[in-house]
Amino acid sequence: MAHLFQVGAGSGGMTVLDIVCRDPRITHVTLIEPDIYKPHNVIRHQFPPAAVDRYKVDLAAACLLERRPELHIDTLRCSLMDAAMTERIDTAVKTCDIAICAADNEPAKFHFDMLMRRHKKPWTLGEVLAGGIGGLVHWFQHGNGPCYGCVASHLRRAIDTDQGRPPDYAAPGGIAPETTIPASRASIEVIASLHAQITLQLLTHGSTYAPGFTSLLFTLEAVPGIFEEAFRTYRFRIARSPDCLICRPDESPIDLDRAVDEALARLNQP
Ligand SMILES: [Zn+2]
Repeated sequence: MAHLFQVGAGSGGMTVLDIVCRDPRITHVTLIEPDIYKPHNVIRHQFPPAAVDRYKVDLAAACLLERRPELHIDTLRCSLMDAAMTERIDTAVKTCDIAICAADNEPAKFHFDMLMRRHKKPWTLGEVLAGGIGGLVHWFQHGNGPCYGCVASHLRRAIDTDQGRPPDYAAPGGIAPETTIPASRASIEVIASLHAQITLQLLTHGSTYAPGFTSLLFTLEAVPGIFEEAFRTYRFRIARSPDCLICRPDESPIDLDRAVDEALARLNQP
């Protein structure tokens, strides 16, 4: 019996959700997604073309219930940062056993991290690189390891230093001209499957989970100046940054909103 809390039912998020919910241990799902299914989503999404104009969160629930009629599903048609929904979201996080972040923007990822830290919940995050040239999966354990801010700034520095020009791993249409095309359904599915696998392992092993990395990068295409080869894994063991204001260990009261704003500002620096 496990309660899954997930944000995002886009093309990647829905694929992760579908795979993870085939595990009989998942009995309760809380899903947050504000968007309506649009015609341009169809090419990369598993929902059918006839579902256009309906809420993604409703389509996701129907899809899960078809396979698992006994699943208890709570759907929230709102943004994770919707101030009017704070209490409801907080209650759901409090009772979850595992969480999946499939949000498509940086502020939501930082907010997700903050929620998970507050309630000490394990969670995972998957990111398909712009152009579908590869992807990243991160896992987080409360009180053990870095926060999302530590991970994002570390990867940015690491890739900056080694490659000269970083792939924009968070935002589509990033820096390298090779990466301005949208990711394909194939690349989304590969990274979503890795994300689901790591999520289920984290659910199984809990606080003893130790795959040897905190972030896994898997390349899908060779791109000059970015990835030498396709189908290579890079395992990053990212430590908590000692000067990180978000996850510093002494837990002394700090202004978390301000710390998150500062972390976002640092990430956005050229
Ligand atoms: Zn941190």
